[in-house]
Formats: sequence, structure tokens, C-alpha cells
Amino acid sequence: MNTFTVRAYGAESTTADLKEMNIERREATPNDVEIEILYCGVCHSDLHTARNDWGGTIYPAVPGHEIVGRITKVGSDVSKFKVGDLAGVGCIVDSCGTCESCKHDLEQYCLNGFTGTYNGKDKHLGGHTFGGYSQKVVVDSNHVLKVPENLDLAAVAPLLCAGITTWSPLKHWNVGPNSKVAVVGLGGLGHMAIKLAKGLGAEVTLFSRTPGKAEDAKQLGADHVVISTEQSEMDSVKGKFDVIIDTVPYVHDVNPYITTLNISGTLVIVGYLGGLEPILNTVPMIMGRKSVAGSVIGGIAETQEMLDFCGEHNIVSEIETIKMNEINEAYERMLKSDVKYRFVIDMQSL
Ligand SMILES: [Zn+2]
Ligand SMILES: [Zn+2]
Repeated sequence: MNTFTVRAYGAESTTADLKEMNIERREATPNDVEIEILYCGVCHSDLHTARNDWGGTIYPAVPGHEIVGRITKVGSDVSKFKVGDLAGVGCIVDSCGTCESCKHDLEQYCLNGFTGTYNGKDKHLGGHTFGGYSQKVVVDSNHVLKVPENLDLAAVAPLLCAGITTWSPLKHWNVGPNSKVAVVGLGGLGHMAIKLAKGLGAEVTLFSRTPGKAEDAKQLGADHVVISTEQSEMDSVKGKFDVIIDTVPYVHDVNPYITTLNISGTLVIVGYLGGLEPILNTVPMIMGRKSVAGSVIGGIAETQEMLDFCGEHNIVSEIETIKMNEINEAYERMLKSDVKYRFVIDMQSL
């Protein structure tokens, strides 16, 4: 298969800083589009993959799965896109297309495993996939999104992961104008959950451990802020919420939030993989038909639906734009939650 070389930014090992490197991209096949990358959001998964925090990282690792760019080439069988169109690529660049999940537009739950935008198994070139910290990417057109022309492109990028990760559970649990939604955590995911739930017409509450975030949360659209460390505030929202989107990325106690769910309410974990501590008390769940659920990103059709919705409602992420060579510093700041609320790399700086 013919390839071409592009500049990229990646890590050579677990402990190495990211640096400039060259990678190979395949020439577009009949079903592919080639995209010049304009902006790439910086997700926590990028950092964890670059540093092998979850194990399984294959080096060199080129992260980035919040990609916005312009199409520079289309394969002969592609009718959905033309050269010059804006395009987005999220966390999924391929899936089997034939399993029950894929047949129902749930590629994120592909039973044969979807191909991640980075650190996935490259079906075309062998080896592993490289993400959006690069000049260009070539992707199967069925896994490419149309990007609304009316939005700030840099601020669209985080919608491709942070946006869809919170949109999918909001839609699955039927959030709408009569819903009462709470969000736990105000970071990249949490701030999108507030904006999207508000856009869907819900009454939105942020749970925060510190009062300092109240003003910011309200500016993002939250109707209320509840300080989760104040028992009286927690008591005041007992039995209130239909859906809680829990974005906390580390082990934490969800029991106090369960009591704030309405009958049949659901707390959805989107930011943390692993065991919960202290253990989950089933009494309030059983006595109120409440659920604790999980959700990961979203399917391609659902991601398109979210982008279209954001175009119509003028919803984008709150971002700080950086140059490519500022990425290592950005990772350090992310570890201290020192970003409001997402870094986005201007890829012209590579
Ligand atoms: Zn991500
Ligand atoms: Zn599948």
C-alpha cells in the first residue's frame, strides 16, 4: 500500500517528552478521505496513553482524537464529502460494521473492538494507528463527521470526545425540557455536560467539592451549584435528579449522589474505569429503582447528531489554544486541573 510522510508529535517511550517526528499515512483508498488537520483537542486519554498509565501503549505514540480539519482528498467511492469540506474525526476510525452493535450505530460498543484513532490496530498498514497531533490523517469516510460551518473551529474540536461522551448518556436517558440533571466534576467533560444538558432544555445542577467553581458553572449555564461536602446542601437535593453525569476521573464515593436521584433515576459514570470505594450500598438503589450505569463516547451517527445540534444551538467547548511545542507543559497543567476547560492545539504550529 502506498504511503506518504507527515510531521507529527509523539512520545518515544513511557518517560519521554513528546517531540516532533515523522509518521507514515496511507494514500487514500476508494473509501477514504484525507484531512489536513487544523485543530486537535487535548484529552486526558492522550496524556495517559503517552505515559502508558493504563498499560498497552505502543511506541511511538502519537495521541489526539479530537480532530477538526479540511478535506484535501476524497477516494473514488466517497460521495458524502468533497475536497474543501470541513471534517471531524473523534475516537473511532474504524469498526467491523457487521456486529449487532455496529448494525445499530453503536460502533463504540463494536463486539469485535473498534479501531481507536491512536494506539489502535491499523488494518491497512499493520502496526498501530497514529492520532491527530499530526499534519494530516486518512480515515474511512464512514467514520468521518461533518462539521457545522458556523462554529469556532478550534472550540469544536473537544466536541469529538468530551462532547460526545456526555451527549450520548444524556440522549440515551432521554434528557429533555422536563429533566433534572446533575453533573459531578467541572473539567473537560463536566463543562460540556452542563452546556449540552442545558441546550436540551434540562434544569442543570453542578455538584462541586469547592464553592470556588459556582460562578464559572453558572456562566456555563448551570442553574444551581450544590457543594457536595456540605451535608445540608446535599439534603436539600435528596430525591431530585433524573440523571447524574459523573465525570470524576479517579476512584470516588458515589453513594452520596445516589440519594439525590429521583425514583428510577440513573447515575452514569463516564470518566472513571475501575472499582468504586467505599463499596456501593444497594439499599437506596433497590428502594428507589435507581441505577448506576456507565457509558463511553458515542457512535458515529450520534456524534453527527451532536455536532448538528451544537451548530444549531451555538454550543462549543471553552478552550485555551496552544502551539504544538507547548504540549508537554499543557500535560503538566492538566494534571493540576489548570485549564478552563480544554487545551486545543493549533496544528498550523507543527
Ligand atoms: Zn478523549
Ligand atoms: Zn462491530
